[in-house]
Amino acid sequence: MIRHLIIVLGDQLTLDNPALENLDPSCDHVLMAEVSAEGTHVWSHKARIALFLSAMRHFAQVLESKGIAVNYFKLGEHTFTQLNEVWLDQIKQLQPQKIIVCEPGEYRVLQALQACAQQTNTQLIVRDDTHFMCSQADFKRWAGQNKALRMEFFYRNMRKEHQVLIRDGQPEGGDWNYDHENRKAFGRQGPQDVPTMPVFEIDAITHEVFAEVEHHFSDHPGTLAHFCWPVTREQALEFLHAFIEHKLADFGAHQDAMWQGSAPHHAFLWHSLLSSSLNLKLLNPREVIQAAEQAYQQKQLSLASVEGFIRQILGWREFIRGVYWLDMPAMATSNHYGHQRQLPIWYWTANTQMNCMRQTIHQTMLYGYAHHIQRLMVTGMFGLLAEISPQQLEAWYLAVYVDAVEWVELPNVAGMALYANGGRFTSKPYVASGAYIKRMSNYCQGCRYKPEVKTGPQACPVTTLYWHFLIKHYATFVNNPRTSLMVKHVDKMSSEERMAINQHAQSLLTHLDAL
Ligand code: FAD
Ligand code: SF4
Repeated sequence: MIRHLIIVLGDQLTLDNPALENLDPSCDHVLMAEVSAEGTHVWSHKARIALFLSAMRHFAQVLESKGIAVNYFKLGEHTFTQLNEVWLDQIKQLQPQKIIVCEPGEYRVLQALQACAQQTNTQLIVRDDTHFMCSQADFKRWAGQNKALRMEFFYRNMRKEHQVLIRDGQPEGGDWNYDHENRKAFGRQGPQDVPTMPVFEIDAITHEVFAEVEHHFSDHPGTLAHFCWPVTREQALEFLHAFIEHKLADFGAHQDAMWQGSAPHHAFLWHSLLSSSLNLKLLNPREVIQAAEQAYQQKQLSLASVEGFIRQILGWREFIRGVYWLDMPAMATSNHYGHQRQLPIWYWTANTQMNCMRQTIHQTMLYGYAHHIQRLMVTGMFGLLAEISPQQLEAWYLAVYVDAVEWVELPNVAGMALYANGGRFTSKPYVASGAYIKRMSNYCQGCRYKPEVKTGPQACPVTTLYWHFLIKHYATFVNNPRTSLMVKHVDKMSSEERMAINQHAQSLLTHLDAL
């Protein structure tokens, strides 16, 4: 019999984990488990599975080096397939007085923990996740009874509360948000002198994990050949320092731009690549924000870049987490437009003639990474325009990105990309024609379709489906001040043009797999 069974989940890999507070190594045990279901409940990318397993094994070593007893269940060394089977087994064997855990990142996992505690009649203590800078309770208070939530107002509160980029009570530089300065394309010459990130040697633990992933998940998407992600806090700190030193200064300007190139840095550009380290809790958002603010002050970096970066973490990341817990479980089944189409097979293979989709998915399969605009305005927007089931797309996003944990993946997909929750935190659906992708990337140059063509064999599917979407949802778009201008172009179309667009769109929608 032990005093406390402390469960450490795969994305809670920090010594600051509140579940570890007051741990007494003489009578408490930590439980960590790898089970196959966590890699298969969505068809996970090999790099995503490897990252979680390697980071977990490294963190277990850190705990053990501090004299903490860790009951670690390695994949392949036990017969349990689900997390709750391990928990039940351990609770029965060890008979703890209490189970202690930090708030999980998934509603499903919280439910499973509560069910185990109830089944074994053991007290479960779920401690607030202090990694986040806004607690669930504070977010709920801020949201109140408002039907529509806006990140911008939340973000201003967070800036004031945490005194980030605030001078004499006012926002640094006089404005809260410099997003309008952060939407530049690269121009013909493309990105120049993109800084590279540190490359880590694959150590024995990660080698072993790779072999096990290839063995247990051989048919899973993606590859391990280009694995480049931090698996320890030390490596995550190296990424952070490299970003602050070499990328932050130019982070803002081209934040939305995309580029097809031959080298990995064309996929990564000036983005920080810190999401997986933050989500596994190898990094704390406070230290990331502090490092960025300090660099701004010491090196006189561009305010648009630094504010733009800090807004992603202090604003978007915290907001998204708050809204997930506020709106679950309804968010997971939301489907505002009632879209039911199957996910095209090429979302897994990149084998499509649409170059924007081919490049973004190909890169995703290589690294388990795509940046925000690729996720929002390429794979996400196409999913919305092609009327694909939100639940199928949500499962895809949860599977293919190394930083995917449901609390962050689901609101971004359901809320931001697909408008599945009916505009709970976006004022309009994010839709655009191929002209947007042409402006923000070089994808259209290598494509058999033409972004400006709406119908016929050369028509860009993004463009056709965009106009089809506007025609179909004309009534709601015309009544929304944020979209009324967009549909003015529909007014100018003849009925023949509209009919031709609808016909072409229908033929695309019925043959999505062939695009
Ligand atoms: P940067 O561009 O360098 O941004 C800095 C940091 O800001 C990121 O590391 C991340 O922690 C945070 N951030 C930026 N945007 C967001 C956002 N919208 N929500 C939450 N945090 C944000 N992010 C995930 O961490 N996991 C996901 O599963 C995920 N799924 C997404 C799905 C869709 C459809 C969309 C549109 C966005 C998704 N994002 C997700 C947000 C964002 O795309 C990634 O955080 C970002 O691309 C990670 O790359 P980076 O670290 O280089 O980010
Ligand atoms: Fe994508 Fe259309 Fe451009 Fe091709 S032409 S890359 S399908 S936007």
